[in-house]
Amino acid sequence: MPPIKAVRGVRDILPAEARRWQRVEAAARQTFEAYGYRDIRLPLFERTELFARGIGDETDIVKKEMYTFADRSGESVTLRPEATASVLRAYIEHGFHVQPKPVRLYTLGPMFRYERPQAGRYRQFHQANVEALGETHPALDAEVIAMLLDFFGALGLADRLELHVNSIGDAGTRQAYVAQLREYLTPVQDRLCDECRVRLTRNPLRVLDCKTPHCQPIIEKAPSILDSLSPEAARHFESVRQCLDTMKIRYVVNARLVRGLDYYVRTTFEVLTGELGAQNAVAGGGRYDGLIHQLGGPADPGIGFAIGMERVVLLLGEDDRPPAPLALLIPIGEPALRRLMPVARALRRARLAVELAYGDRKLPRELEHADRIGARFAVIVGDSELERDQCILRDMRTREQRGVPLERLAIELAPGQAHDES
Ligand code: ATP
Ligand code: MG
Repeated sequence: MPPIKAVRGVRDILPAEARRWQRVEAAARQTFEAYGYRDIRLPLFERTELFARGIGDETDIVKKEMYTFADRSGESVTLRPEATASVLRAYIEHGFHVQPKPVRLYTLGPMFRYERPQAGRYRQFHQANVEALGETHPALDAEVIAMLLDFFGALGLADRLELHVNSIGDAGTRQAYVAQLREYLTPVQDRLCDECRVRLTRNPLRVLDCKTPHCQPIIEKAPSILDSLSPEAARHFESVRQCLDTMKIRYVVNARLVRGLDYYVRTTFEVLTGELGAQNAVAGGGRYDGLIHQLGGPADPGIGFAIGMERVVLLLGEDDRPPAPLALLIPIGEPALRRLMPVARALRRARLAVELAYGDRKLPRELEHADRIGARFAVIVGDSELERDQCILRDMRTREQRGVPLERLAIELAPGQAHDES
């Protein structure tokens, strides 16, 4: 029988890579928590209508990327393609709006999108998601962006990334810009890609987000959305930029940065890399005042971002060395094994990573094994050591060895560390 393989576009994260994931997740949690964000854990699937309403019917995600199915009772459910809609659903459902504002939440976990798999693009992928809810002040926009950069800084990636910011104005005044854009694009639509021609009729703003090379010269000459901002939106953006400046954050103002989701207003931003080919966006976000109301909640504003964790892990490279135990404990024979079992347990409880052999192989083979697994020390107990409740502590690098009472083993293995004698 042929073995069964994983589903296309879905990948295993093997132990060597998982170490890098742990670093990335720890950096996210530490950074977000320092800024006052709290962890919220949400279901991986929701009623389909949540995403249809919360992301927008005209988006690529809702139109062609969702994993939607009827459950056994016939209800349509969808594996979440992004987290914001779920966070807002929970915010409304649990009455978070009565808490002091802004309500700061973050969540880490897998997302599902039916896309064409390639390097840095998968059908199950992971995001770190952050949302700050209930506050419109532009200083919050700048603070959220600063936190995003601090996350990358914590991983030593800051110098390899570029921050782009834009304002796409308010829903009301954007209409005028969209009309202007449509007027500009209609005469040249024959030179746009097929998809952009469809976007032109349905959602012209999305043309600005197109990655197709031959659309770029047209996009570059398009009117700038920044020229059509309302005075309030323009002031907001100016203030965001001043706040970024006071924090000495470098950024590029990119008037083409509209983002793929329908719900954004005012500030949008992305963190880009030149190192991952077409998958150049490592994180993106923006303000979405009005979305909570649209989902049936209070008229609370919000801002957030999502980090693409696979792409961050790719940027970290592949320098993982398998973790080596501090020591291999080698009993020679059954009585020595039984003496070493509680010793091994005590060492592990003191957070010393040790391995215990089974006492059924010859010493030279066990020493070979200690070398292969990269153990720093071998701890050998044969009959004569057992009689004196001692062991032989062998340094695997220098091959020096000496007798040590078993009760002193923890201290000898890890001198600087506090040990509980019990
Ligand atoms: P892209 O332009 O790359 O499709 P997007 O605008 O669809 O990105 P968002 O919805 O803004 O992406 O999600 C935030 C981040 O999640 C992206 O910047 C990216 O790093 C990551 N991401 C999105 N889709 C995928 C995917 N299919 N596989 C891996 N990472 C992804
Ligand atoms: Mg996408």
